[in-house]
Amino acid sequence: MATAVETLVRRLGILGGTFDPIHHGHLLAAEEASHQLGLDKVLFVPAGIPPHKPARPIAPASHRVRMVELAIAGKSHFALSRVDIDRPEPCYTVDTLELLRAEWGNDPRFFFIEGADSLSDLACWYQPRRLIELCELAVAERPGFEIDLTSLEKRLPGLTDRLHRVQMPLLEISSSDVRARV
Ligand code: ATP
Ligand code: MG
Repeated sequence: MATAVETLVRRLGILGGTFDPIHHGHLLAAEEASHQLGLDKVLFVPAGIPPHKPARPIAPASHRVRMVELAIAGKSHFALSRVDIDRPEPCYTVDTLELLRAEWGNDPRFFFIEGADSLSDLACWYQPRRLIELCELAVAERPGFEIDLTSLEKRLPGLTDRLHRVQMPLLEISSSDVRARV
């Protein structure tokens, strides 16, 4: 349940990811979304068993959670949410948002923070219409990915009205690249 302090949250950012590992691209997207959209808090939500990435081995949830904890330590406007991790089943983003709505109550506006890569296939996600009812989108640029709102709007009408662009320097950082270097 939300604590007394958390009830003051009116604008909640939600950054879902595999975080395998978390990196500066995630942190900067969260920081810029927070600043530009006046978010009271950003929740980092590590995926449990990501429905879209079953093919490769993923670091244990406990390790990914610990990396997130270390990366956001000391930042009071950032917090970890275990909502996906503690679920036994693969979890779609709409399910996560429903669970967070139950936890945080009806008041806060939800801003789902994502990079342009993730936005480009949003129309193929599970229940995309429901998704954009449950949250607004805060979309950050990502190198190599165009944000083509005209074509996205055709595939998912109403999307544009629910979308906020987040300006940030292009950061050519990805977890895949970090893993490859390791
Ligand atoms: P992987 O390479 O394993 O897919 P990733 O770096 O894309 O990892 P994810 O955990 O998949 O990281 O990403 C979580 C969210 O953060 C996604 O919405 C993604 O678009 C966004 N994101 C990740 N890296 C960046 C970046 N460098 N710039 C902007 N957004 C980013
Ligand atoms: Mg990714």
